[in-house]
Amino acid sequence: MERYSRQVLFAPIGEEGQKKLLSSHVFIVGAGALGCASAEMLARAGIGKITIIDRDYVDWSNLGRQQLYTEEDAKLKLPKAIAAKNHLERMNSSISVEGVVGDFSIELEGMMNGVDLIIDGTDNFETRFFINDLAMKYNIPWIHGAVVRSYGMSVSILPKKGPCLHCLLETIPSDGMTCDTVGVISPAVQMVASFQVAEALKYLVSGEVSEQLVSFDVWKREHSIVNVSSLKKSSCPSCGENPTYPYLSMENGLKTAVLCGRNTVQIRPQQKQEISLSSIRNRLKPVVGELKENPYLISFQVDGVQVVLFKDGRAFIHGTKEEERAKAIYQRYIGA
Ligand SMILES: [Zn+2]
Repeated sequence: MERYSRQVLFAPIGEEGQKKLLSSHVFIVGAGALGCASAEMLARAGIGKITIIDRDYVDWSNLGRQQLYTEEDAKLKLPKAIAAKNHLERMNSSISVEGVVGDFSIELEGMMNGVDLIIDGTDNFETRFFINDLAMKYNIPWIHGAVVRSYGMSVSILPKKGPCLHCLLETIPSDGMTCDTVGVISPAVQMVASFQVAEALKYLVSGEVSEQLVSFDVWKREHSIVNVSSLKKSSCPSCGENPTYPYLSMENGLKTAVLCGRNTVQIRPQQKQEISLSSIRNRLKPVVGELKENPYLISFQVDGVQVVLFKDGRAFIHGTKEEERAKAIYQRYIGA
C-alpha cells in the first residue's frame, strides 16, 4: 500500500476507499489522448482491473499528446491498445490490464460483466451514443469527456438517477468538429481527463458523482458549470420509461459497403440528411491535400485515400476496401 500512501491520506479516499479502488474494474473506450491520460492516472491510482479498447495504431502525429506512447511504438505501428497495456503494466505491475484491439461494436455487450465504470476516451459522438446505450442497458455509470482546440468538457452519467447523454443532446455542443480537423492542445486534454478521473475515483469510493456539466477553455481561461440534474427525460429512448437503446442496434450506425471492383468503400449515414458542404470545406481546407468542389460534392485527398463527399452525407473513400478504415476516415474528417 506504500505506493498509494499520499492518496490514502486524502480523507475522501482513505484506506477503505483504496481497497475499493483495488477491487474495481474500469473500462476505457479509446486509447487516444483522453484515454491515455485517464488510463495512466487510473493505473497509478491502483484501479485493480483496467480494460482499454481501441481500433487504431500508434502514429507519429499521436506523440504530441498521447502520453502513453513512444517513438518506438510509432515506428512499429503498434496497436494503441497493446502499446497502452505495455506501458501501463510498467507503471503498476500489481494491477491487471487488458488491451483490446478493435472497434466498438455489439461485441462490447459481452464484455460488460463486472465492469464498475466506463470512461469515454473517444473522439466522436457515434461511439459516445453507443457507450451511452450500453451503459444504460447494463446499468453502468460512465464519464463523458470531449476536447477540441483548447476547449474541453465533462459530465458524469449515472444510470437511473441523472440524465443520460441522449437527454443532454441539446445541452452538449456537437458541431461535428474533431481534433483531427481543428487541432487540440495537450493541456486541454489533461484538464478533461483530470475531471473524468476525479469523478471516477469519487464514484468508485462513494457511489456518487457530480450533477454538473463542466466546460472550460484553458487558453482563454474561461469555464462554466451547468447543473444537469433536472434534464432527465422520461421519454428518452436510452434511459426513459420504455428504453429501446437505439444506438445498440447497428441500424443507427454509419452504413458501409465495399463498391465492387473499385477499391472504394461507400459510407452513408443512416438518417437522410443535408449537410453543409461549404462549412465542411472551410474546416477541411487547411488540413487536407488539394480540395476540389462543385455544387454537389467536394473531393479531397487525405491519409492516402481520395474522399468524395456528397450533399446527402454520403462519401466514397477511394483507395481502400477496408470498411473500418474508411469509416474511421469518415468520422475523423467529416464527422459521424
Ligand atoms: Zn436519457
